[in-house]
Amino acid sequence: MDLIRKLHILADSAKYDVSCVSSGSSRENTPGGIGSTFSGGICHTFTTDGRCISLLKILLSNACTYDCAYCINRISNDIPRATFTPEEIVDLTINFYRRNYIEGLFLSSAVLKNPDYTMELILKTIKLLRIENRFNGYIHIKVIPGADSRLIEEAGMYADRMSVNIELPSNAGLKMLAPQKSKEAILGPMGYIRNKILENRDDIQRAKKPVYFAPAGQSTQLIVGATSDNDINILKLSEALYKQYNLKRVFYSAYVPVSNHPALPKLTKPPLLREHRLYQADWLLRFYGFRANELLTNEHPNLNPILDPKCDWAIRNLHHFPVEINKCSYNMLLRVPGIGVKSAKRIIDARKVSTLDFEDLKKLGVVLKRAQYFITCKGKYYPGIKMNEDFIKGNIVADGLKTLLKTKNISYGDYEQVSIFDLLQGNKSDLGSCVNFNNTISIGVDIWKYVYDSLTSGRESIKKQLKPLLS
Ligand code: SF4
Repeated sequence: MDLIRKLHILADSAKYDVSCVSSGSSRENTPGGIGSTFSGGICHTFTTDGRCISLLKILLSNACTYDCAYCINRISNDIPRATFTPEEIVDLTINFYRRNYIEGLFLSSAVLKNPDYTMELILKTIKLLRIENRFNGYIHIKVIPGADSRLIEEAGMYADRMSVNIELPSNAGLKMLAPQKSKEAILGPMGYIRNKILENRDDIQRAKKPVYFAPAGQSTQLIVGATSDNDINILKLSEALYKQYNLKRVFYSAYVPVSNHPALPKLTKPPLLREHRLYQADWLLRFYGFRANELLTNEHPNLNPILDPKCDWAIRNLHHFPVEINKCSYNMLLRVPGIGVKSAKRIIDARKVSTLDFEDLKKLGVVLKRAQYFITCKGKYYPGIKMNEDFIKGNIVADGLKTLLKTKNISYGDYEQVSIFDLLQGNKSDLGSCVNFNNTISIGVDIWKYVYDSLTSGRESIKKQLKPLLS
């Protein structure tokens, strides 16, 4: 099989790993132009300092001996198979690098023969790159669960980042859909990499010519929607992984339906909105001081599709608001919808020299459209805002719903034609006047459950009014 055919097969098989985002652009060189882009296998990833770099994203092999039900590369799937030699990957990487197509390599693999055999080939590839070819570009490798720790230790001396994919968020899911994998075979290497990175930090400080071990840290990927795990289980797992394994990132990958396995859900599209909400919640865990069990509870085990997780938390916790912008702590500022890390820091700095008003907040980057309901400036509410729970909930839910309906490429499940005014007919109330709908809208019945939950949290009187929503 020629190299380009292999590249097409193995770049296509690698696209289900979301640690990098594919640029998806393909353009031929034009007369007089310089260079071209090649969609297969080139992806963009972001470094910790925010730079975007292009990586060659490929599998070493897709000829897997395992049969994970959710995976396109499973042994029982009838697809074209290919395997690169280490030398072929080195040639591709060096050639693409020289032509400025890429700045590094993202190398994963299916389990070829067994985990150690595959890991040895990955190790051989990156050693050839680093030692024989003196390649200094970025290298991200996947560690094959179950591979010997000596191979992992050696690979860590040549790779910038390593990741062991957990894939399924629960042990039960693993047993059902990936019976050849085990929790121990995944968490063992992850713990080993964590320990080596920590040991390496001490060595680096002592050594004159330090040898780095996976200096860009480790990450993992969780598949969302292939099992019945709810969002609170997924977020709690991510929280534990960040704390116990010092992961740099947990990536969430909406399950792409590629199999008719009876234990898999019958989806027609990947649950992209759910994936998006998990990334937002993950951000809150890492940078905003939230804990998983604040964002979700056993009563609310899934993220709200209508509202981003911070807005959803805020309207379920209105007793914390409003906060006075000129007095409240940095940690509390971070909890206000519409205020991010940058704007919170700017507020703290700016209020040392003057007392802030709403106009100042706009200049500092606060999104007043969201923050207006939760703050006061100099003891006053934003003009036109009623400090009334129904008003706040109604407007935020209405805004969230409008945004959701404008968003493209999102699957809502079964559609039903409804009007909020039909639903509220005969129930003259505060709520009727504060929900700003004037059009008939088309949304899935599941979404109404979230509208109902968001508007009625703790409010028996509104629950009664909205009961018809769910019938
Ligand atoms: S081991 Fe990896 S590549 Fe092989 S079937 Fe399972 S998930 Fe797919």
